[in-house]
Amino acid sequence: MTDGEPRIGIVGSGIAGLRAANAILKCKVDARIVIFGDETHRTYNRPGLTKKRYPVSDALEMTIAEDLKVNGAENNALTWRLGTKIETADLRNRVLRLSTGETFEYDRLVIAAGVRPRTSAEGNRECAFHTHRTLRDLGDAQYMHNQLQTSEKVTIVGAGFVACELASLAKDYGCEVLMLEALRCGPFESVLGKRISIALGRWVVQNGVTFLTGDSARELLCDRTVVSARDVSASEASNLESPSDRSLFVEAIGSVPNVEWLRGNGLDLSDGVRVDEHMRVSQCEDVFAAGDIARYPDPWMAGNHTRMEFWKNAIDTGDLAGRSLASSLGYDAKISQIGYFPSIATEVFGLRIQVAGNPKISDSMEIICGDLDQLDHGVLVAFLREGVTVGAAYMDKGARLNSTYIALLKSLKAR
Ligand SMILES: Cc1cc2nc3c(=O)[nH]c(=O)nc-3n(C[C@H](O)[C@H](O)[C@H](O)COP(=O)(O)OP(=O)(O)OC[C@H]3O[C@@H](n4cnc5c(N)ncnc54)[C@H](O)[C@@H]3O)c2cc1C
Repeated sequence: MTDGEPRIGIVGSGIAGLRAANAILKCKVDARIVIFGDETHRTYNRPGLTKKRYPVSDALEMTIAEDLKVNGAENNALTWRLGTKIETADLRNRVLRLSTGETFEYDRLVIAAGVRPRTSAEGNRECAFHTHRTLRDLGDAQYMHNQLQTSEKVTIVGAGFVACELASLAKDYGCEVLMLEALRCGPFESVLGKRISIALGRWVVQNGVTFLTGDSARELLCDRTVVSARDVSASEASNLESPSDRSLFVEAIGSVPNVEWLRGNGLDLSDGVRVDEHMRVSQCEDVFAAGDIARYPDPWMAGNHTRMEFWKNAIDTGDLAGRSLASSLGYDAKISQIGYFPSIATEVFGLRIQVAGNPKISDSMEIICGDLDQLDHGVLVAFLREGVTVGAAYMDKGARLNSTYIALLKSLKAR
């Protein structure tokens, strides 16, 4: 222990880190808590970045309590070190090395460093034809909203949640949208399977997007190999006078956990940070992890570990990590396990898509109501494994089947 009150370091100023701090404060732990964040601003509503109604330009003026409904962020026991990256961690000696050259000794540590977008060879840069971008933080979103207001054309690589929400947003701004999905048949295929994915692909097209898959998509992917294969001539490139002449090319092709700073400590970092059911890092009594970066025992698939990237998961695992940490310091904290069915909701061209449970582990699906050719009229799908319902999806422009969906959720069974 350091002298005096314990020092708690939280790496990551996103929702998981903030909720961990909040839980520690709620347990009345007498400690100094420092939240380190490499972004220059405090926690904001990350899912809001692709939502039309979220005030991206005013986000920094809002208090956390207004934006995220989290009180306690102004507590005197809490210090924010923003614009400060943790470069390395020595978990054996409990020391963090900061980008400022300073060190920070802790008694307890919470790892809540999230993920970053996966990128192709181009990354975030200009090429002869495009301005390549990814979308993860407020700066990216502000840039994107500004660009979409003036761009005529945007190309989006990928067909996951971020890609589809961005396509909707771009259309709302009046852009011409091209979506490229080289690996799958349509949106959300890895979660909802081929049939629904193809139906969602049709929905996207009906809403004015040019949606290409397979080889047609691959041909238009812009990475170094493809560009050089096309043999771009110098005169072709010089016809584009400035980066603003280049069309926007956004990659939304998944994410990578921010674990590099933890290397050299013997942790299992194969897919995020592995923790136990209380969010304690395996083999490290005084270190906890939460949010997108944490890989915890899957409550619904015994023997598996799972890493989830959604808001409620970051909230719940952040709370749990904070309570487990408080308990490790001898405070009375109710420790539980993550035990709910995951659920995600999104809206794509006015179609609300709700997914619950774990469709990925199903071996069959059953359309309970509706028709996949008319998603906007309401379609409810159950996902089964060996006859047991393990997941559900509901797509609708209204809420016609809401009560049937809720009844279906009640029948979900863990395995
Ligand atoms: C555009 C977009 C839309 C989304 N929409 C939805 C949605 O509709 N519904 C939903 O459920 N989920 C959505 N999500 C996912 C959701 O936002 C995440 O699951 C959630 O924000 C994860 O929170 P987190 O605190 O674990 O990580 P983050 O929010 O990523 O926070 C981690 C923080 O740690 C910082 N950091 C990383 N490494 C270091 C370091 N070494 N030192 C210091 N700081 C570091 C990062 O910069 C970041 O600020 C969306 C995500 C994006 C990007």
